Amino acid sequence: MKTTNPADWKGILVVGEITNCRLQPVSHELVGKALQLKQDCPAAGEVSVVLIGSGIAAAGKEMQTSGADELILVDHSQCALFHNDLYAAILKNIIEARKPSVVLFPATARYQDLASMLGIRLDTGVAAHCVDIRINETGDILAVVPAFGGKVLGDILCPAHRPQMATAKPGIFRPGEAKPGHTAKVSAFDAGGVIAETMGKTRLVALDAASCAVPEGIPLEKAPVVVCGGWGMGSKENWQLLGELAGMLGGAVGCTRPAIDEGWMPDESSMIGTSGKVIRPKVYIGAALSGSSHHVCGMKDSDLIISINNDPQAAIFEVSDIRVVGDAKQVLSALIERIRTIRSA
Ligand SMILES: Cc1cc2nc3c(=O)[nH]c(=O)nc-3n(C[C@H](O)[C@H](O)[C@H](O)COP(=O)(O)OP(=O)(O)OC[C@H]3O[C@@H](n4cnc5c(N)ncnc54)[C@H](O)[C@@H]3O)c2cc1C
Repeated sequence: MKTTNPADWKGILVVGEITNCRLQPVSHELVGKALQLKQDCPAAGEVSVVLIGSGIAAAGKEMQTSGADELILVDHSQCALFHNDLYAAILKNIIEARKPSVVLFPATARYQDLASMLGIRLDTGVAAHCVDIRINETGDILAVVPAFGGKVLGDILCPAHRPQMATAKPGIFRPGEAKPGHTAKVSAFDAGGVIAETMGKTRLVALDAASCAVPEGIPLEKAPVVVCGGWGMGSKENWQLLGELAGMLGGAVGCTRPAIDEGWMPDESSMIGTSGKVIRPKVYIGAALSGSSHHVCGMKDSDLIISINNDPQAAIFEVSDIRVVGDAKQVLSALIERIRTIRSA
């Protein structure tokens, strides 16, 4: 298929993400950005959202008041689990039929894979991990992407091919405000034909109900307080102090890359930074981490940044509001003890 006549393409399509049966907040963030692009360039056309999954009526209802003009639901039992080949085939069908000029994806582990697969199948480019997206008066987008570990920002244009595709990580854009008075037009895409063509190699046999369980604790991206630890915490035993403090403050524990490598945190879902999450809590407390650019780009917009490091020259102090020079174990233990004393008084 030729995708070289931009004039034939119009509208902004957001690919929402459903994981473990739940609509992911990044879907609202991308809709917020899409609505802003539409406002900046009314000629860009309408904002549509596509949701793929099984039993997704509740997610659809939540999305209906997001301010998007249209909601396309792809609801099929074979779509219950993410399957890149199938999801890409469904989206290719929808995109070729509707010809949106812009398609936005979450830059999550699964959906960035989907975006790159679609880029190849649609013969167009994908601007990955955008930190901003702007639009001109004719509907051409300019995607801002960090390079060289975040030291420079590059502007990515896709002037000759359509759709113009971009991905953004959770937390990069602010979610659009719910518009209770506005209801998106809902349409259903019948995936039966695509499933029959695609599912020769892989087929969903059963779904473990446990995979739909709601994880315990406050999600990192929603926590008002994040207590983040780095390699300098030194041991799993010291690491417990972070959980204790976060629990006292009604917050969540985050980490840098080495904490996962050391096995102090179970997986990457708590990692903050370029390859992890972007957070903006009211209070961020960083203990025994250096402040590498890969980490800082994920937490620098926190309202109040408190850092503890035994090196007075640590780079994290450059972005901190309160700097504590000292041993993290001693400082955290003293802080926990102080809070305990105040609360029991
Ligand atoms: C492509 C790429 C992507 C990456 N993505 C990410 C990402 O998303 N998130 C991320 O975090 N990293 C990421 N990294 C890794 C990143 O570059 C750094 O290596 C990492 O952030 C460093 O983690 P750290 O600050 O915990 O460890 P270090 O840099 O080793 O810093 C440890 C700090 O602890 C201090 N310290 C030591 N002992 C104590 C003590 N007792 N008390 C107080 N302070 C102490 C030291 O002074 C030092 O400043 C990425 C790397 C690459 C190449």
